[in-house]
Amino acid sequence: MIRRVKAAKPVAAISKDRRLTETVEALLADVETRGDAAVRELAVKFDGLDRKSYLLSKAEIQACLDRMTVRERDDMEFAQTQVRNFAIAQKNALLDIEVETLPGVILGHRNIPISNVGCYVPGGQYPLLASAHMSVLTAKVAGCDRVITAAPPFKGEPASLIVAAQHLAGADEIYCLGGVQAIAAMAYGTESIQPVDMIAGPGNAYVAEAKRLLFGQVGIDLFAGPTETLIIADDTSDAELCATDLLGQAEHGVNSPAVLITNSEKLARETLAEIDRLLAILPTAKIAGKAWEDCGEIILCDTLDEMLAEANLIASEHVQVMTADPDYFLEHLVNYGALFLGARTTVAYGDKVIGTNHTLPTKRAARYTGGLWVGKFLKTCTYQKILTDAASASIGEYCSRLCMMEGFSGHAEQANVRVRRHGQRNVGY
Ligand code: NAD
Repeated sequence: MIRRVKAAKPVAAISKDRRLTETVEALLADVETRGDAAVRELAVKFDGLDRKSYLLSKAEIQACLDRMTVRERDDMEFAQTQVRNFAIAQKNALLDIEVETLPGVILGHRNIPISNVGCYVPGGQYPLLASAHMSVLTAKVAGCDRVITAAPPFKGEPASLIVAAQHLAGADEIYCLGGVQAIAAMAYGTESIQPVDMIAGPGNAYVAEAKRLLFGQVGIDLFAGPTETLIIADDTSDAELCATDLLGQAEHGVNSPAVLITNSEKLARETLAEIDRLLAILPTAKIAGKAWEDCGEIILCDTLDEMLAEANLIASEHVQVMTADPDYFLEHLVNYGALFLGARTTVAYGDKVIGTNHTLPTKRAARYTGGLWVGKFLKTCTYQKILTDAASASIGEYCSRLCMMEGFSGHAEQANVRVRRHGQRNVGY
């Protein structure tokens, strides 16, 4: 039986989402119609930054690099090396193929990098520099020609460490722009910004909605909105780790769900108490506490199978497993953005440094997609050729008859002419 030891507050999800969609649609239309003038107005309105150009100059980028301490630069380069190494390994596993499926019939595919990519790096509440490694660097490993990137100002000016991360990750152009105006400018293009073919990167609800609405105008990586975390733990886990890992992700924002699924009532009760204790000392308790109060949940199950079913239903962005046998969930869990197995690792490792990508599906998008990775920046495009007259005539006969089943006489003629030329016969019906 499944019970909620702590439930999230019910939300008027539909009307809230509709209001968000209308707001974002209006902002997108403004940038599409008025270009740079609208971008500048919105940048002033939402982020208080008024500049003639939002493209950062070489001198501004260098100044950001110069402001870094040696330790900051070492740490950032370490993180980028881990992300790059895993992205390269993933790329190497993505092979172009060419096979002979019938005598003389050659089919293949090539993985072609997307030419122009825009990478959003969030920075409204925290300067989320790690997102630059995750999207800019991964797009570069994929082989994308032009990778531009945008992040909002932090406390009124370009966020120095984000700019450094964007530059070290290999960005070709760095814009100090946030929110819908950044996404719209990259997608539609303006007088000063050349449009891109695809937009990647996480962001708040406005950013995620803008990407969703622009899909079609540009490609998008995935729906990567406000962070979510789910912990699956049994009585081998301890409450301090559970509470720390729940609040550690809840601090992303007041709308970040943090959920514990357990089959131990003792752990559930102790985790509630630990959360109260930690909220009294966590510097970001104001945000994390509100997120926990509104969106936090503790779900008590009787069996591992119930825990698995609940976790698959929730399809959380992050799933941390701290049970006696974490590999059970690796084998059976199918809906998650990224999985963190065992108590030795944690979502923060994935967020910042370990090398797997932190841009991950939210709002149950994990039912149909994994997170950002090098493959998202590649188009898998097929090709075919026929090496012999006999193969062309043989395929042509099948093709002609199949076309006529659908009433496509023009298509059929494309086949018929080849059967006549390469097979010296007419199609037999
Ligand atoms: P952000 O950069 O995503 O958003 C800041 C921008 O929002 C501002 O520049 C402003 O232009 C815009 N904005 C703010 N209020 C607005 C309003 N009322 N109307 C229109 N636009 C408005 O930074 P953030 O707000 O700190 O959010 C970062 C988000 O990214 C968090 O929700 C975090 O959980 C999420 N995140 C998700 C993932 C993932 O993979 N899913 C990874 C990392 C971070």
